[in-house]
Amino acid sequence: MQKLLELHAELTGKTPARIEPNRTDEGRVGGDEDEQPLNEMLQAIASNRNRNSDVVLQRVLKALGKLRQDPDSFGECEECGDEIPLGRLEAVPYVEFCVNCQGQKDAPKGGPTRKKLTDYT
Ligand SMILES: [Zn+2]
Repeated sequence: MQKLLELHAELTGKTPARIEPNRTDEGRVGGDEDEQPLNEMLQAIASNRNRNSDVVLQRVLKALGKLRQDPDSFGECEECGDEIPLGRLEAVPYVEFCVNCQGQKDAPKGGPTRKKLTDYT
């Protein structure tokens, strides 16, 4: 699942195939005094914007783990076990549920149940 790996690399800012253990210490640019306010600013921006990306990353990691441990079950809905259509997997490589189950999970809880038009007749 190349797409999943690419997404993971994009989210973590790392390329899986390239490992540079000493990079953080040696390749540092700029002093700590200058970096600090910038980091705080970036974190403030990121805290809002990246919240969603963190969730995505968790799901990507989970999907990758699943892919490693049980490749056969990858691409199957975790809820009903149905095969998830390839188009959906390509759009959302870390998708866990089929359209039906996702729809049920996304449905508001406690509120009025949204029914099909035919249910009202
Ligand atoms: Zn399902």
